[in-house]
Amino acid sequence: MRQTASKRVLVTGGAGFLGSHLCERLLAEGCEVLCVDNYFTGSRSNVAHLLDHPRFETMRHDVTFPLYVEVDEIYNLACPASPVHYQHDPVQTTKTSVLGAINMLGLAKRLKARILQASTSEVYGDPFVHPQPEGYWGHVNPIGPRACYDEGKRCAETLFFDYHRQHGLEIKVVRIFNTYGPRMHPNDGRVVSNFIMQALRGEPITIYGDGSQTRSFCYVDDLIDGFLALMASPAAVTGPINIGNPGEFTIRELAETVIALTGSRSRLVHRPLPRDDPKQRRPDIAAAREVLGWQPKVPLEQGLKRTIAHFDTLLGGRALRAAAE
Ligand code: NAD
Ligand code: UDP
Ligand code: UDP
Repeated sequence: MRQTASKRVLVTGGAGFLGSHLCERLLAEGCEVLCVDNYFTGSRSNVAHLLDHPRFETMRHDVTFPLYVEVDEIYNLACPASPVHYQHDPVQTTKTSVLGAINMLGLAKRLKARILQASTSEVYGDPFVHPQPEGYWGHVNPIGPRACYDEGKRCAETLFFDYHRQHGLEIKVVRIFNTYGPRMHPNDGRVVSNFIMQALRGEPITIYGDGSQTRSFCYVDDLIDGFLALMASPAAVTGPINIGNPGEFTIRELAETVIALTGSRSRLVHRPLPRDDPKQRRPDIAAAREVLGWQPKVPLEQGLKRTIAHFDTLLGGRALRAAAE
């Protein structure tokens, strides 16, 4: 028999970068947390510090298969997120987004549970409208190397809205823009983790293309605040809603900032730009400000310092000391 009256929350992809921060936050808020993950890109070490928590439970499961559990709320985060990882097995990536969404929506329907989908700024593709508001339908190549992720996530959004219209499900769709912070996978090929690891190791910093393409980087704590605000919002608020930091930087600027903050002697080198790499990306967060009263608080330099400290610890804590000497 259940001993407590706390809310039972399922987090799929809970052992990943964002998922582990979300599990931590939900526990701090007093929830019971069920972390479901197949450990494709996530790891048990991301949630190792939570394993002894009396309200925390983990389950190895692939969301492309049905899941029968009893919970009050669902956060659906399961899906590899970095281009290197999602292109490793593109068919599985689409299956995870599409079949995973169907199964989690079926679960939510049976339980009459609120369900939040971790969608992405990738639904805007290589955008013609800048910054991107939620009303923009996007510019996505349906057959390119990024399509398994972009179209999978777009189809998941379709499913969420059809379950909402057809079955009256309470849905929340959040479009996440590039997010960074401690517990990012050090080898996932994403720009923030790559640049920090390269800088700390004194290796060349790999700029793809001429580095003039832009991204907007949101610190993980700010993003999790946005998740919780959206989940707690009135039923009529379905999203999709952009959550991200509107500060926009070129990739070259990011490289220079990382070098400055680490004191690294790494030099910049150029590598070919991957196909379909979006040239610019910046969220329009007017809706998040207005509807959720949310906006990011952590400036890039501050967030990068915390992330650098995390990666430095992973590397044994020597790189920053050496640079300071
Ligand atoms: P991540 O790779 O660290 O986490 C994804 C987690 O999902 C991992 O733990 C992985 O093992 C798990 N997973 C993958 N396939 C699964 C499956 N079939 N069944 C069960 N678990 C599975 O990535 P992240 O950055 O934490 O991203 C989390 C979510 O947020 C993803 O849905 C991603 O698309 C979305 N998102 C992230 C960003 C970002 O910048 N981090 C941006 C946009 C969207
Ligand atoms: N499903 C699940 N857990 C549940 C209920 C459903 O994983 O508790 C899955 C099930 O595999 C189903 C899918 O969700 O195929 C969609 O469910 P829905 O009720 O919408 O459709 P149907 O059962 O008619 O296929
Ligand atoms: N990028 C780069 N060097 C790297 C990794 C990425 O210049 O070592 C660039 C990449 O081409 C893209 C941007 O940084 O323009 C962000 O890449 P990431 O893979 O982090 O995310 P996404 O392209 O999905 O936004």
